[in-house]
Amino acid sequence: MWSVHDDAGERTHPSPEALVLREFGGHRSASLFPTRSKHANYFDPAQGPGMRRAYQDNGEGMNQPRTNPPHEDQRVLMSLIAGLPKVELHMHIEGSLEPELMFTIAARNAVSLKYESVEAVREAYRFGNLQSFLSIYYEACSVLLHEQDFYDLTLAYLQRAHAQHVVHTEIFFDPQCHTQRGVAFATVLSGIRRALVEGERAFGITSRLIMCILRHLSAEAAVDILEQAQLYREHIIAVGLDSYEIGHPPAQFVNVFERARQHGFLTVAHAGEEGPADYIWQALNLLRVSRIDHGVRCMDDEALVGELVKRQVPLTVCPLSNVKLGVFPRLEEHNLREMLHRGLCVTVNSDDPAYFGGYIAENFVAAQQALHLTASEIYHLSMNAIQAAFLPAAEKQALLDQAAAVYHQEIAS
Ligand SMILES: [Zn+2]
Repeated sequence: MWSVHDDAGERTHPSPEALVLREFGGHRSASLFPTRSKHANYFDPAQGPGMRRAYQDNGEGMNQPRTNPPHEDQRVLMSLIAGLPKVELHMHIEGSLEPELMFTIAARNAVSLKYESVEAVREAYRFGNLQSFLSIYYEACSVLLHEQDFYDLTLAYLQRAHAQHVVHTEIFFDPQCHTQRGVAFATVLSGIRRALVEGERAFGITSRLIMCILRHLSAEAAVDILEQAQLYREHIIAVGLDSYEIGHPPAQFVNVFERARQHGFLTVAHAGEEGPADYIWQALNLLRVSRIDHGVRCMDDEALVGELVKRQVPLTVCPLSNVKLGVFPRLEEHNLREMLHRGLCVTVNSDDPAYFGGYIAENFVAAQQALHLTASEIYHLSMNAIQAAFLPAAEKQALLDQAAAVYHQEIAS
């Protein structure tokens, strides 16, 4: 999972990024983050007129190469990433199934895999688009049969999340992946729920569950799974839409989402990842979603950007996923930073971390390096995620206060 560290194998000395990633599992070393001089002309978003105006008016050319201000050495930035309380809003629990756990569960369930080893699985992760990824993803799900399997899967994610200072997570699950294999909805939900309760007790991580509908299956199948979810309404806050995007526009699920809202679910949808900006319009206007998952293609449509900015619709962007699936050829070409500066409520997430080379911290680190994100930008991305969470206002404020304390300590020390 430590992709940044692993990729740095040729370095003689560990980079600040690698050192920080090692630190995620333990205590942060004071010597690793030496005293820094306080800077004078630093844009302080917490005291400014709000991110939207501040970023819209800064006049900085988004396509221009740039470097961070001199006081922002990599150690400061990595320390900030490590220390900020993180909220994750786009993470598929089945996509956190690491190959090692896949083999462990397969063995105890006597499920045969077509891969001979963990290395063979990792080799298979060289997919080039959403379709080839999902083929492997669905096969990997075949090892998950019992309540304990879903518990182990979820607890393993929470342990990694805790090590990266995730304090709140809103997890997607794909029950249709399992019910169509004969695994009961209750089995899936019970295992995940038990781990979430344990995660809050042991790590203090709060959570919400979002049930995703597989868009490559029929609207009738979606209604069926929605009716099953309705039985567990108190444990599921929202309904989402995922899987193969192109050719499966949100409009196909208008009635399903209408019914979901009538049942009291909030709604979100994957849109504008590989699919066009029009799918984002459909998700907003037809499915009436609270958040857009991915949404990076919104930048193709000026009117859409204006609408998303005006309404401050959160966009749950997943940088490493986007590169792994070919949405952007290189992370340096990702539009995350440009989206932030346009005033969009953009957040950083891991999507399917076992497959895409990293959890949320690795996504922050990789995006910082590729796009030269400043401390202020990293802080804003974190605050956006807190604001976009399905949490009561008081809990959001407590997290915002925590984030502000970390930010000011990091940049002032
Ligand atoms: Zn996703």
